[in-house]
Amino acid sequence: MNRGAPDGAKRILVTNDDGIDAPGIAALCAVLSRLGDVTVAAPDREHSGASHALTFRRPLRVRKHSERRYAIDGTPTDCVHLAVFQLVAGGPPDLVVSGINRGYNLGDDVTYSGTVAGALEGTLLRVPSLAISAGFDAGEPDYDVAARVAAGLCTEVLRRGLAPGTFLNVNVPPGRPCGIRVTRQGSRTYRAAVVERTDPKGEPYYWIAAADAVPADEADGDHVAVRDRYVSVTPLHADLTHVPSLAALSSWNLEIVP
Ligand code: MN
Repeated sequence: MNRGAPDGAKRILVTNDDGIDAPGIAALCAVLSRLGDVTVAAPDREHSGASHALTFRRPLRVRKHSERRYAIDGTPTDCVHLAVFQLVAGGPPDLVVSGINRGYNLGDDVTYSGTVAGALEGTLLRVPSLAISAGFDAGEPDYDVAARVAAGLCTEVLRRGLAPGTFLNVNVPPGRPCGIRVTRQGSRTYRAAVVERTDPKGEPYYWIAAADAVPADEADGDHVAVRDRYVSVTPLHADLTHVPSLAALSSWNLEIVP
């Protein structure tokens, strides 16, 4: 889809879930500004794990940091929703890019990810979209490498578009990637996902802990690609229907109990 700005420049909307001051979004904006007019609409604080939450029971406040740069007291989904309908000058954007996230969004984790949700929201609003995340071994990710990956992919998406209802989930390994692989969304198994502690009053409290995840060994999966030090590009779609189950379910005895 290309609605085209009057002067021909592409309109690119950038969001994230790490917050507007995160280094990943700055690296992304630096490279994307060479491809078009970049508008930033991002949460005013971190919303990792926000998934696709939309805020509609309280008003949203928008703080304009500078021309085409907006901090919003909401989720990544709120940011994309507001920006597409209200903030991007000249009409809806030609591309939504969410990231660069600090850490991977692989396998089952895409369902929790605010970064992925930003791209999902763009897709639902009929704008070609991609999410990009960078893994790291220690310290911080190398956002410059991930930004260059994003620039190449965004050029292709702007030129070719994406199938309706689909978007790209991109994960960049640390170091110098060996190349780019097109992958499936993988799965992973959590062994110890909750940590219990005791507070000073003797009451238990809990941490949802993502540690101790065991990547499934799926040859064409996203986990395996980044483990092999390849950039993983996974096409996702908003339609969660499992098509093979349609026929199986239609043979069930489906009755409303009187
Ligand atoms: Mn994050």
